[in-house]
Amino acid sequence: MKTVLKVLLLFSLLGVFSGLASAGELTVSFFYIGHGDCILVQDEEHAILIDAGMAIQGDRVVELLKNAGVEKIDLLVLTHADPDHIGGMSAVIENFEIARCLEPGWPDTSRTYANFLRDLERKNVPVENPRAGDEYDLGEIHIEVLFPEMPFIEGAHSDGNANSVVFRIEFDEVSFLFTGDMELETEQRLLEAEANVRCDVLKVAHHGSRTSSSAEFLDATKAKYAVVSCETNSPLGHPRPEVVARILERDMEFYRTDVNGTVVCKTDGSSADSIEWKVERGDANDETVNQNPAERLRDMVTGGNSGSEEEQAQEDDQPEPSGSRLRGMFDRFRRGRQPRGTEGDQQQNQDGSQETQGEHPENPPND
Ligand SMILES: [Zn+2]
Repeated sequence: MKTVLKVLLLFSLLGVFSGLASAGELTVSFFYIGHGDCILVQDEEHAILIDAGMAIQGDRVVELLKNAGVEKIDLLVLTHADPDHIGGMSAVIENFEIARCLEPGWPDTSRTYANFLRDLERKNVPVENPRAGDEYDLGEIHIEVLFPEMPFIEGAHSDGNANSVVFRIEFDEVSFLFTGDMELETEQRLLEAEANVRCDVLKVAHHGSRTSSSAEFLDATKAKYAVVSCETNSPLGHPRPEVVARILERDMEFYRTDVNGTVVCKTDGSSADSIEWKVERGDANDETVNQNPAERLRDMVTGGNSGSEEEQAQEDDQPEPSGSRLRGMFDRFRRGRQPRGTEGDQQQNQDGSQETQGEHPENPPND
């Protein structure tokens, strides 16, 4: 990237992330980190980090947190152990003091998860497995855990996703719902339990995958705003057009990191109408970040330090990709990007060839 652009980007980032929230304010930053989730919640005195993106984003996550004025993480939440949520954790644990960690305790068998627990233990970070009904308070920030609820969900598209930590944050009169990569089964359990899923700001589950965000659930949230975290030109087709349509049909104000870049909202807690939104378009165009889809696909083909192919395939909402299909996707990225508006809706056939389907919600890809 040209130096001038880098300087401009740095200034624009500094403009958005000018430190902790002012007195009586809450700031929530949905960082653009390619594919994955990384969300920072801050009031004047506290920082909560929810997930940390892929391993290849670890250094960037640390830099983003430092730019946001984070010196200590009061609460580190791992919603679940997929690589696009846990990957950057080792860099975070290495670089910050962490007062407490919440993670679902679902029996993930990956080496990354074992290393995560080992890193936390090495730094004497207390780890808890939150369960529905648990509550935590950090100053004026009130957290209410909605899931997991025992027994764990079994037999979902991905049980790891389905047992994500789901929780609400209340800041005075304003509420947020964080959903990890929960699945339709999770939504159903929450609705059956009559859990309080009402919120002003909804973190759309699983990057806008079709395995979440049922109409019934979206209705129950009564959200005014929705934010989805996904990568630019997602090879997984995130967010799915049918999910986008469902959100827009409900008149939610919709932000997506693949288009808006990092999305930041700030509130004084008085009402949903008081929430101010800022988007940082620049980092969604940052080639140093956007190379990552290709790197990730290469890792899926060749293995690599950001998780095994098995781990990667678990979090995809597509049928488990075959090696040849993955190579086709990787080759496509090596050949270069296609104009926006076509690529996100391209489907890969089993033989690696592609077909472009309409972008219109009425003509969704049939994966
Ligand atoms: Zn994910």
